[in-house]
Amino acid sequence: MEERRIICDHCRKLVSISKIKFIPQGKNSSVALCSNCRDKGPVIEDKTTKKPLKPVKNVEKRPQFVCDRCRFKFNVNPDSNKGIACPYCGKSDLLRRYDVNAADILVKSSNFRE
Ligand SMILES: [Zn+2]
Ligand SMILES: [Zn+2]
Repeated sequence: MEERRIICDHCRKLVSISKIKFIPQGKNSSVALCSNCRDKGPVIEDKTTKKPLKPVKNVEKRPQFVCDRCRFKFNVNPDSNKGIACPYCGKSDLLRRYDVNAADILVKSSNFRE
């Protein structure tokens, strides 16, 4: 007798249908979850389970800088004390702080050097 197998929607492994449960998701769809994945709890992507999530507000408050050389906007990690340089051109002489709420506030780049 052949056992029916189904691909788990979470780990993408082929598992016997007896280990699969269909969890309803949305109106007309459901996901197939194997017993392993059900034990792990809610369906989360692998990458997010590896490191704990930091509060979102920290990310939003990240200072943004714009490089006047190449007009490249980038975020700076406030925890880092390293000198800030444009990730695009690698220069730091024409950086200025870019504030979404007050884009006209200019700060000389020398203020940000260690
Ligand atoms: Zn699985
Ligand atoms: Zn640049």
